[in-house]
Amino acid sequence: MVFLNGEFIKKNQASISVMDRGFLFGDGVYEVIPAYNNTLFRLDEHLSRLQKSLDAVKINNPYNNQEWQQILTQLLVFNSQENQSIYLQISRGADNKRKHSFEHLTPTVYIESNPLIPKSKSTLMAGFSAITQTDIRWNRCDIKATSLLANVMYSQQAKDNHVEEVILHRDQQITEGATSNVFMIKNSTLFTHPTGSHILSGITRDLVLESAKACQIPIQEVAFSTQDLNTADELWISSSTREIMPITQVDKKPINQGQVGQYWACVYQHYQTLKHA
Ligand code: PLP
Repeated sequence: MVFLNGEFIKKNQASISVMDRGFLFGDGVYEVIPAYNNTLFRLDEHLSRLQKSLDAVKINNPYNNQEWQQILTQLLVFNSQENQSIYLQISRGADNKRKHSFEHLTPTVYIESNPLIPKSKSTLMAGFSAITQTDIRWNRCDIKATSLLANVMYSQQAKDNHVEEVILHRDQQITEGATSNVFMIKNSTLFTHPTGSHILSGITRDLVLESAKACQIPIQEVAFSTQDLNTADELWISSSTREIMPITQVDKKPINQGQVGQYWACVYQHYQTLKHA
């Protein structure tokens, strides 16, 4: 079952207008919210980021937080899986003429939920590979916008190169991954790009920082460079569906001799306790 504009319907019965600005322009925003043990994880944080994205592109939020919670919980019940990943999209809506500027329209709300199967610790312990690329995206990466052409091209590159992620850099500074935030351990300190317009402020990023604090790892929200990768002790990526993944090879060069590090192990363990708290 999916949710479309106020109704729960079968996915193959869900359809929208060809005049929808989400279809014509990628004019919309989205969220991905994990649910563990049938409970939405960090819902308030996701809804607050959703509000920020909506405000940034001047789309009215069609529901209040209580209504969102009811709709999402109902969808979890319909899909009856213990762990699910909710995809929620709001586009500006359908106009009767294609033009770039917009009128006040009724937003289109589409939500689906899919089974969420986090990778096991033993799978994660094998480590993952990444490649680096110049970050060509616009300067509002903090908006979780559905116009994702650059990210789509990067993800396809990752697939074609048989790697987990493309790590992006702007002026030689690592920003984030195509679909994740990026962290480096160097000299026993955790580094990650500060929030701002060059990265999406990941909900999992905050949880990684919370977990790093619990592991007593000093944190520097300071950008690190592509050069730093050569001497990094550990490298991780994070997102709501991938959680925290250790990257042990970048551009075919090993990180930490290709081994998953001890800091990752502590942060990962703490993250698991947060999930089930
Ligand atoms: N950065 C980008 C570009 C993303 O697409 C994502 C998630 O999809 C993230 C960061 C991580 O965000 P979150 O932890 O909220 O899933």
